Amino acid sequence: AKHIGKDRYEMFATGMREPVVQRLQIESDLRRGLKDSEFQLFYQPIVSLKTGKIAGVEALVRWNSLKRGFISPGDFIPIAEETGLIIPLGEWILQEACRQMQEWHLQFPQNPPLMISVNLSSRQFSQPNLVQQVQFILDKINLDRKSLKLEITESMMMNDVEAAIELLKRLKDLGLRLSIDDFGTGYSNLSYLHRFPVDTLKVDQSFVRRMNSGESHDRYAQIVRTVIMLGHNLELDVIAEGIETEEQMKILQSLGCEYGQGYFFAKPLPSEQLAALLAKNPKW
Ligand code: C2E
Ligand code: CA
Ligand code: CA
Ligand code: CA
Repeated sequence: AKHIGKDRYEMFATGMREPVVQRLQIESDLRRGLKDSEFQLFYQPIVSLKTGKIAGVEALVRWNSLKRGFISPGDFIPIAEETGLIIPLGEWILQEACRQMQEWHLQFPQNPPLMISVNLSSRQFSQPNLVQQVQFILDKINLDRKSLKLEITESMMMNDVEAAIELLKRLKDLGLRLSIDDFGTGYSNLSYLHRFPVDTLKVDQSFVRRMNSGESHDRYAQIVRTVIMLGHNLELDVIAEGIETEEQMKILQSLGCEYGQGYFFAKPLPSEQLAALLAKNPKW
């Protein structure tokens, strides 16, 4: 089951009520999992709605625990955050995603090159040496820097907006790109938006998935339309997440949305399957 913001909150609240012992156990399992390479990245295509071609992928972490079985990120990322394990895990994710994309650039050259999007958690974002860490990985991996996009959420920036803007600028100075994830669900403070040096807005899937075709006054289609217009006014590209039907894709195309992501195109896939998809060079 996939969760939207509200469910995730409920899940998190349930997690908080778990006995301390159990959480400690998960923490030690996470630690061991990191050591034993139990984590894996899946990749979900991001498709150009203009050309129908794959423009990039989002890296999404998976935990295949020997002891617990398959655990979805919605269930372990919050614990990794609380315990600080997200720092070494996040470092591995970023490095592995960049390494994989560098390989795919050689295998599947295209113009513009495929983009790799990587999620940053709030703990990573507030970590003092984030910029150095990203720079270190980029120096080591030798991925074309423009091809890396970091996804952040609005709520991560609201603690100290001025400091967040400074940090975003320093990340941008490394030559990479930035995207605001889950747009529309946070404490959107629209007055700051134009000051964030970002390249892309991702319309949250909770809006996209509820769009109904045929109803011209559909509430969710109106919200999505407004977000797309807002993005375009700020000269940002817009990605719509959670596209599950052809109808939704067509509405988004008609609204001028640049990119789409969702089960309609493909689910997040292990690297070999994603490579097979890239080799087919599909067009939607
Ligand atoms: P997100 O960044 O908003 O990622 C999108 C989520 O929506 C993914 O869930 C993806 O599998 C799912 N999704 C994509 N298309 C569709 C669709 O058409 N329908 C539905 N129902 N769902 C769709 P996933 O992989 O379970 O990840 C959940 C969340 O966990 C992510 O939300 C992100 O906040 C976090 N996460 C995942 N991977 C990472 C990571 O590597 N680092 C960090 N910091 N967080 C991660
Ligand atoms: Ca994301
Ligand atoms: Ca999202
Ligand atoms: Ca999210």
